[in-house]
Amino acid sequence: MAMIVNEIFESLQGESSYAGYPCLFIRLTGCNLRCTWCDTKYAYEDGKEIHCNEIVRLINSSKTDIIEFTGGEPLLQKDELIKVISGIDSSKTILLETNGSVSLEDIPERVVKIVDIKLTGSGEGKSFLFENLKYLTKIDEIKFVLRDIFDYNEFKEHYKNYELGRKCVILVSKVKDSSLTDREIAEMIIEDGLRVKYQIQLHKYIWNDERGR
Ligand code: SF4
Repeated sequence: MAMIVNEIFESLQGESSYAGYPCLFIRLTGCNLRCTWCDTKYAYEDGKEIHCNEIVRLINSSKTDIIEFTGGEPLLQKDELIKVISGIDSSKTILLETNGSVSLEDIPERVVKIVDIKLTGSGEGKSFLFENLKYLTKIDEIKFVLRDIFDYNEFKEHYKNYELGRKCVILVSKVKDSSLTDREIAEMIIEDGLRVKYQIQLHKYIWNDERGR
């Protein structure tokens, strides 16, 4: 059994509660969405097959304790992913970054799921599979990326309708060319009394858009 892998690299985790920690990233090839602001288009097609046992070996021999599967959309290779996860040392923390449109059923409990709810500004605003909410626990995180004030209002509606603040960690950030400033978003969050973490994409702050970082 093999996975199609776009790249494997070490960096600092950039956009979750784990931001700032060294992390081994395994970027899997392929995505079922086409977000307008996607910054990893190179992962749509490019990739090479790596045997699942070899991926497990690389992970377990890594000096890094935090592993993140990202994409593309890693759950497009769900069976292989579950097999790889089953071989990872229990001392490692496993993060799974997913676009929210593929079922989270059967993902092992130990995995920290970082799940996007795409908003209209992404061009994929209808993609979230709402039944995925039932697979989230307190260790998991939901991520909203804002393009404009309409996205902010839509995010707030989801936050309230699904009582997301009680469910798990809620992350909010913005796209590079957002019409909102960090300050405007921060002030709206405070004003609205939302239990969310506002985030600046750390890896982009340090390395800009350099690939493999
Ligand atoms: S889900 Fe992620 S990889 Fe896929 S198009 Fe959107 S931003 Fe790009």
